[in-house]
Amino acid sequence: MRVLAVGAHPDDVEFHCGGTLLLYVRGGHEVTVCVATNGDKGSKRIPPAELAEIRRGEAEEAAARLGADLIWLGFEDGALQDGLAERSAFVEAVRRARPDVVLAHDPEDYHPDHRASASLVRDALFLSTVPSVRTASPALESMPSLYWMDTGAAGFQPTDYVDVTDVYAEKEQLLALHRSQWEWISDHSGVEIAEPMRVTNRFRGMACGVRYAEAFRREWLAAGGSPARLLP
Ligand SMILES: [Zn+2]
Repeated sequence: MRVLAVGAHPDDVEFHCGGTLLLYVRGGHEVTVCVATNGDKGSKRIPPAELAEIRRGEAEEAAARLGADLIWLGFEDGALQDGLAERSAFVEAVRRARPDVVLAHDPEDYHPDHRASASLVRDALFLSTVPSVRTASPALESMPSLYWMDTGAAGFQPTDYVDVTDVYAEKEQLLALHRSQWEWISDHSGVEIAEPMRVTNRFRGMACGVRYAEAFRREWLAAGGSPARLLP
C-alpha cells in the first residue's frame, strides 16, 4: 500500500501516528509525510524565518529516519486557511502520494491549523479524483480511505487501535529529532516534549489491552475508500 500522513506542523505526524507509520514501513508499505505549515511560530527565542528553515531540516531528518518521502507545503504557521490555494496544494500532495490510506488531523482537534488541515484533506480526497480539477500531477482513479488521528481529548472516540508497543521507543526517537521544539513545548506547555504523547499512547494502550497504542477514527466517505481496515 501507499500511505499518506498529513500534519499541520512539522512534528505532528511523529506525535500522532509515528508508531503506525513505523509499522507500515516495517511491513513494506510506502509512506509519504506531508507537512502543511512551516512551523515558524514554535519558539519564543528563534525568529520565524530562521525557525522555518530549522524546522524544515528537522522534518527532513525525521522523514529520512522513518524511511518516508516528505512533501513540504510551507504555509504560514498559525494561519492555515481552508482556501482555494491551500486546497489546490493539498490536492496536488494527495495526487503525488497516490495513497490507499490517509491519516489526518481530526476535525475537532484543538489547534486551528489542525482543524483547517482536516477540512482541506477531506475535500482534497474527493477533488483529487476529478480530472478537470487541474494540478501538476494526474487525477487519482479512486479515493483513498481516511482515518482521523487521535486528539488526546476526552471527546475523541476511537474506532481503531494500533499496537505500537514494539516501536514505541523508536517513535520517541523520531519525535526527539524535532530539537527546536524541546524548549518550546517546555516553555509553552510546561512538559517534556514526549510526555503528552507517552501518556496518550499508554492510555490508549490500556483501553485495548496492550502497553502502547495509537488510536484513530475512521471517516467513511460515501464516494470511495475501502471497507477493509487498512491500519497495521
Ligand atoms: Zn500541530
